[in-house]
Amino acid sequence: MPYLAAVKGDKMGKNYRAELVGVFGDPVDGNPTGVMEEAAFAACGLNYRYLTLKVTKEDFDDAMKAIHAFHMKGMNLTMPHKITVLPYLDELSEAASIIGAVNTIVVKDGKLFGENTDGKGFVQALKNNDVTLEGKKIVILGAGGAAKAIAVECALAGAAQVTVMNRTLARAQELADVLAKHTKTKAQAQELSAGQKIPADTDILINATCIGLHPDSDKKPDIDYDTIRDTMVVSDVVFNPADTLFLKEAAGRGAKTVNGLGMLACQGALNFTLWTGQEAPLDVMEDTLRMEFAEVS
Ligand code: NDP
Repeated sequence: MPYLAAVKGDKMGKNYRAELVGVFGDPVDGNPTGVMEEAAFAACGLNYRYLTLKVTKEDFDDAMKAIHAFHMKGMNLTMPHKITVLPYLDELSEAASIIGAVNTIVVKDGKLFGENTDGKGFVQALKNNDVTLEGKKIVILGAGGAAKAIAVECALAGAAQVTVMNRTLARAQELADVLAKHTKTKAQAQELSAGQKIPADTDILINATCIGLHPDSDKKPDIDYDTIRDTMVVSDVVFNPADTLFLKEAAGRGAKTVNGLGMLACQGALNFTLWTGQEAPLDVMEDTLRMEFAEVS
């Protein structure tokens, strides 16, 4: 159905009421998700609106009540609400429960279902590049929120081994302990030191730190890039720029690369499907992000 027809309602009866989704966070000013989701709704002729809403910690309780009051279809959560939201939810996905953080709510029959699509978007982006996780040895640089979501999904997808390398060893150990407790993957922690060598038997290397993110796009993780082999798949969570220095160095050593923009689009596409029940126009979402980042880079 064309977009305007969807907005105006069809001939069977007018329906001017939009379905609402959005994001609660603080800050949210630079959050690109709304632009991507709105482009997808428009492309599919869906009368949905994505609201990018600044919600402080103090106002979070009121905001959660508004989900019910406005009969919203769902919500994204970003800093600082991904953990605070847990007591408000009726049900959690397996991954969200292991990660202990939720970035997506789906409302069904008045009940709130919590999901974490950060890691699932990563796995889907790999799949779209013909990369599978079963039996693979994975090295993750970083142990923050993104690293945790990715590590858990890799483990649930059957990775043989996950090595978490982080500047702060205690945080890497904490994540390895979570993997060891809840999954069958062999998990280990290591301090990320200057000029870090990547083990030769690594199948997939992931930068899950924020190093290289705009405006610091001239930076890259401090590892020994000559230990990257052409048999490795190398991926970055940084989505702006899509072609990070980290990925350029890896591509220069013959490695296959998968960028963070694809991960972000896949994550948005999963949310779109959870809220609308329809397949998402992934190409539209990726193109929208590329255009958006071209403007801010
Ligand atoms: P966190 O703040 O939770 O974690 C940051 C991680 O980066 C920590 O492990 C931290 O180490 C490490 N780090 C930061 N600076 C340095 C440095 N100079 N040297 C070494 N390590 C460093 O952030 P998130 O996990 O939430 O986000 C990480 C990145 O992932 C961001 O760029 C974010 O935009 C991106 N992201 C991308 C998504 C996508 O869909 N593509 C989805 C979600 C996030 P330490 O513990 O020692 O401080």
